[in-house]
Amino acid sequence: MSGSGAQRGIAILGSTGSIGRSTLDVLRRQQDHFRLIALAAGCNRGELASQVAEWRPSYAGLAGVSNDVRWPSGPEVLVEAATHPDVDIVVNAVVGAAGLDATLAALHAGKRVALANKETLVMAGDLVAQAACAGGGEIVPIDSEHSAVLQCVTGRDDGLARLILTASGGPFREWPADRVRSATIEEALQHPTWRMGSKITVDCATLANKALELIEAHHLFGLPYDSLEVVVHPQSIVHAFVEFHDGSVLAQLGFPSMELPILYALTHPQRLPDTGVRRFDPVAAGPLTFEPVRADVFPALVSGIAAGRAGGTAPAVFNAANEVAVAAFLQGAIPFGRISETIDRALDSHAPAPASSVEAVRAADRWAREEARQSVRQ
Ligand code: MG
Repeated sequence: MSGSGAQRGIAILGSTGSIGRSTLDVLRRQQDHFRLIALAAGCNRGELASQVAEWRPSYAGLAGVSNDVRWPSGPEVLVEAATHPDVDIVVNAVVGAAGLDATLAALHAGKRVALANKETLVMAGDLVAQAACAGGGEIVPIDSEHSAVLQCVTGRDDGLARLILTASGGPFREWPADRVRSATIEEALQHPTWRMGSKITVDCATLANKALELIEAHHLFGLPYDSLEVVVHPQSIVHAFVEFHDGSVLAQLGFPSMELPILYALTHPQRLPDTGVRRFDPVAAGPLTFEPVRADVFPALVSGIAAGRAGGTAPAVFNAANEVAVAAFLQGAIPFGRISETIDRALDSHAPAPASSVEAVRAADRWAREEARQSVRQ
């Protein structure tokens, strides 16, 4: 990324969300290297309008709205933005299963996908790999733990033996189990170290997010589940540990900020100087502590790992049931403890099939959503 190379064209899917806005903050500092080509938002017209006024992209649309009078609208906006001919890198920061088609289309079109939409890999990791292979595209993770692993293995990716992803533990790290089950919406949205959208923040409180991340890591780095572990690290300074087969361990550290993994996903395997990231200070970071996960208090983590191990359509069912349950929790329809129960009911009544086509994955996703909707109504 040094020298006078051409600017790389960027599309941002989910431009008005937390990762989308952080990506724009990064691009504002790196305008010599990148040019914003396409913006796709969900339904936030006001913020999209101000982004368009500032950046003047070639394409802008609203994926979560139909028949908008001003912009292209509807779910196909994501694929249109992702496959725009001037786009080299697609930042996919869409929440949930809605991001899958755009990831597959971008990879088929030979683009780099800087992926924050981990649900895509969870649902259809093998299909995503096939699309990358067929079209010449590539996935580079934005998720901080996976960015950490990638930064540790780049240039030395033989002999990878074990990954340990860190988890902040969420707001209920030290709560007794019965109190966790009846936690309120406000309590679940109090993440101790990261400021993010509400869906992922609830996933961090249930630890479902860490199950999604283990499945994501399995697909990105090709390790079996027995070689993937989670440790609770309340300070969120170490993002992941990578163990090589001689026993040596590397880690990537930094104060919690998504801007560093976003920039790295745009520049990998190179780096660009960036004055916008808070410089690391070991003394200011304070003591770093590590604890085992309390699996008995966070059953969604256990169920998600089991779904990952089962493979096929099970991870798509886990993801879909979790999305429905989290939405119901955020609407006040079910208590916190019912999120994991809703997931388990869907997984228990699902017979996993091979995830051999997008249609098979979509069918499992639809089935699980209906199953979970019925279960939250009871
Ligand atoms: Mg993460």
